[in-house]
Amino acid sequence: MGTALSGDPVGHYRELSYWLSTLDEPLTPRPSLPGDADADVVIVGAGYTGLWTAYHLARADPALRVIVLEREIAGYGASGRNGGWCSALFPTSLTGLARRHGPDAAVAMQRALHGTVREVGRVVTAEGIDCDWADGGTVTLARTGPQLARARAAVDEARAFGFGAEHLALLDAREAADRCGAEGVRGGTYTPHCAAVHPAKLVRGLARAVERLGVTIHERTPVTAIRAGAAITAAGTVRAPVVVRATEGYTPMLPGQRRAVAPVYSLMVATEPLPAETWARIGLAQRETFSDHRHVIIYGQRTADGRLAFGGRGAPYHFGSRVSPGYDHEPRVFTALRRTLGELFPVLGPDLPVTHAWGGPLGVTRDWAASVGFDRASGLAWAGGYVGDGVGSSNLAGRTLADLIRGERTELTTLPWVNHRSPRWEPEPLRWLAVNAGLRVMASADGAESRTNRPSRRAATFSRFLGN
Ligand SMILES: Cc1cc2nc3c(=O)[nH]c(=O)nc-3n(C[C@H](O)[C@H](O)[C@H](O)COP(=O)(O)OP(=O)(O)OC[C@H]3O[C@@H](n4cnc5c(N)ncnc54)[C@H](O)[C@@H]3O)c2cc1C
Repeated sequence: MGTALSGDPVGHYRELSYWLSTLDEPLTPRPSLPGDADADVVIVGAGYTGLWTAYHLARADPALRVIVLEREIAGYGASGRNGGWCSALFPTSLTGLARRHGPDAAVAMQRALHGTVREVGRVVTAEGIDCDWADGGTVTLARTGPQLARARAAVDEARAFGFGAEHLALLDAREAADRCGAEGVRGGTYTPHCAAVHPAKLVRGLARAVERLGVTIHERTPVTAIRAGAAITAAGTVRAPVVVRATEGYTPMLPGQRRAVAPVYSLMVATEPLPAETWARIGLAQRETFSDHRHVIIYGQRTADGRLAFGGRGAPYHFGSRVSPGYDHEPRVFTALRRTLGELFPVLGPDLPVTHAWGGPLGVTRDWAASVGFDRASGLAWAGGYVGDGVGSSNLAGRTLADLIRGERTELTTLPWVNHRSPRWEPEPLRWLAVNAGLRVMASADGAESRTNRPSRRAATFSRFLGN
């Protein structure tokens, strides 16, 4: 499995994820940029961020000339490989947002994210994007005492900001297990604000919708530099007064951006389609996405074709913010994911029927804050740093960028993440030491908590260090 970043004459794009492997369309790249061109807006990157930005710009002003430049093909990055949670999650907690921007701004941000899940669902229907959309919400299980305490704390936090049980409900053991029949469930939380999607169908369908609106997408066109007024490629330069950087985990490969985000890998596995009697035991009858309240994120969904797609963090950060197809595969992490899946669902049996394994980079900023912004003086715009929560929030980013670029002041352009500037990451080797130490603290905290059933103080300290 795997393909070279750019320049690979074959382009084994289907092998990049279970999702891309199931598309019934040829993944033939669209024509590359043939030479110099002029546009009103040039967007670098054809994942959700770039494509939602193009979509909303073209909808708002059909006369705008918008060009999207993509190094590989639309959906090559995290957008074609993720867990398919279109959620209202955000890397900064309500408390963290309130501390930085005030409680009203925190509430406004959360409401906008709730609305975004509905908005993506609306566009998917309006544009006829068949992406296995299921409005099942998310169940987050608690399987240890500390996890149960974190479930209660999450609900307390929601209540403190005025969000009632219709937004986040505390579940007892029976209610949680009824939704997701994992082993040792002691309780959990449930939010309706999430849809399960087939992520690659979403991004590829969005690319087609954008083209129908008159946007040009050039694939196999790596941008070598972004400057005010220009995106530069080996084939030519696209001159445009507005240049949007939508390159997320790949951003450090651009000149001058090495320390903007750290690419952190998330990896996934998928089982073969499971028999009906197994699903009768596991549940997820509404195709709820599922997780638990451990520190090192895990996430899963019941796919439309009856598989478990399951992922988690825990792969190492690579020195110098390097991104490479080789890093998509980390046998140690795949083994850990299989083990965790087996612990959650012993009904899967000792020979866990895993058929696919893959991964990809996501973008993490130094203060763990996602942002969207536009500098009118230079014409440079950006969005990203979603950590692992970009499926929904990239739509909010695209709508917001369209307003900012068109000079509209709207309720979106005053949200607290707009024009937030994250500090740069430390130079190496400090960055490598810090990110990997953090990943190790969280992993060992989970191990200690399941052994002792007591909360890890080191993990709590690390969370505070992140300002979350
Ligand atoms: C395994 C995994 C699971 C995840 N699960 C979830 C989930 O369940 N829910 C959720 O909300 N989020 C999840 N995420 C995160 C989510 O997928 C991302 O936040 C989201 O896809 C980001 O979209 P994007 O368009 O900003 O970036 P990407 O999808 O990474 O797109 C960036 C694009 O830019 C292109 N590019 C980069 N550099 C250049 C260049 N120089 N020139 C031209 N093109 C360039 C890349 O080829 C790529 O196509 C997951 C991520 C991973 C990796």
